[in-house]
Order: sequence, then C-alpha cells, then structure tokens
Amino acid sequence: MRKNIVAGNWKMHKNQHETVALLQEIIAQKKTSTTEIIVAPTFVNLAKAVEITNGSEINVAAQNTHQAEGGAFTGEISAGMLTDIGVTTVILGHSERRAYFHETDALIANKVDTALKHNMRVIFCFGEELKDRQINNHFNVVEYQLRDGLFHLEKADWRNIVLAYEPVWAIGTGETASPDQAQEMHKFIRELVEKVYGFDIANELSILYGGSVKPDNAKEIFSKPDVDGGLIGGAALNANDFLAIVQGFE
Ligand code: 13P
Repeated sequence: MRKNIVAGNWKMHKNQHETVALLQEIIAQKKTSTTEIIVAPTFVNLAKAVEITNGSEINVAAQNTHQAEGGAFTGEISAGMLTDIGVTTVILGHSERRAYFHETDALIANKVDTALKHNMRVIFCFGEELKDRQINNHFNVVEYQLRDGLFHLEKADWRNIVLAYEPVWAIGTGETASPDQAQEMHKFIRELVEKVYGFDIANELSILYGGSVKPDNAKEIFSKPDVDGGLIGGAALNANDFLAIVQGFE
C-alpha cells in the first residue's frame, strides 16, 4: 500500500545539543499514526539521532551522500558509512544541492545508484524554478529531471524510491504551490512513472510535496489524492509545528 510520509529536512541547522532536544520533544509529543515520520539532521548529528530515535518509529535520513564507494574525496561521506551507523534513507537531488553545489542530473543519477546499491531508500528531490513556471515549461523540466535522474532504474529499484516534488520558487519563500497546483503536478508525475514502469509501481509510489508547508496549509495539501506527504524545511525545526503537519493526515 502507498505510504504517507512526513520528512523534516533540517538543512544546516541544529547543533548536537539542539538536535537531541528537538528529537526528544518530537518523541514525547508524537501521537500514534500510520504516517511515517523521518528526520534528516546534519551529518555530524546522524549517529546521535539514530541512537535517540531507536525504538521510537521515527526514521533518520541523511541529506546527501557521495557517489563513490570511498577514496580520496576530502570532506565527503559515503553511503557505506551511513548504513554502517544505521542510516538507511538519504535525500538526494535537493534544489539547494543542485544550485549551490552544482549537482547535475547525471551526478544525482550516480548518487542514486550508489545509495540503492547499499540498500538505502532514496528521497529524490526535483522541481522547477519560477522562470520555468512563468513560461509554462514546468512539466517539461520535471519530466527531464525524472528521466535523467531515475528512469535508468530497474523496476525492482522503485521499492526504495520516494519522490519529493519541490518547486524551487516555493522553498523557504512562504509561497506555497496551491493544493490544486501540487495535485496537478503530482498526477502528472504518477502518470509519467506509470507510462514507463506500469501501474503497480506508480500506484505504490509515495510522492511528497515540499515548499513552505506549514501547520495551516498541510491538511489541505495532504488531502489531494496524489500527494502522499511532505518534505518540510523551516517548519520541521519546531516540534509543535512539525507534529501539527504530521497531524494533517489525521
Ligand atoms: P521550506 O519548508 O522551508 O520551504 O523548505 C522546503 C525544503 O526545501 C525541504 O527540503
């Protein structure tokens, strides 16, 4: 069955002390729900996050990984190092990685392959910029990001893929895609996956929406049939807001 997921991408926020405090708050206040909760702290706090969330049904994700197995890549972290400390989910292709760290579709495809080889689950991010939407090119951009990043995969690989549609113009801007805009794109994405991989894979696939999701708009966005959850930035840094967003499914 298709799973509902709410994931918090903490980006470069929260030191270790703050990471522990936020996780403890989330664990204490969390209600039982069928929605999967994922948190993605920075690399240096992943091991601590795994330790603290152990037994809590909260899963921990990394925000990136390197495409190589290992080697002379100063400052980088491999997929094997992540799984070794119990991190089995990774966010790849985030628009900030694409924009500030020059990650191309080809590089991201490489990272996806490496992560899958290590049996990791990938939250694959993509989405158009404002200029694409203004000229009505957003469906095209999204289609190419998916084709170049993921459509080389085998059918079996899709068990470990979660999609996160994040229109760049809605990230950290307070500007959200309307629930209808999100649904329109998510439906397009699911139909595209269906065309290439068939109904079963498309139907099982969780497609998250990201971009200024807050407690007051989550419920309406999540009510759309092709929106299976959210990837949350700013509002994931506060336990009350984050859990209120999770409640958007109830
Ligand atoms: P905001 O929720 O802060 O807009 O960030 C979204 C995001 O980039 C999640 O990955």
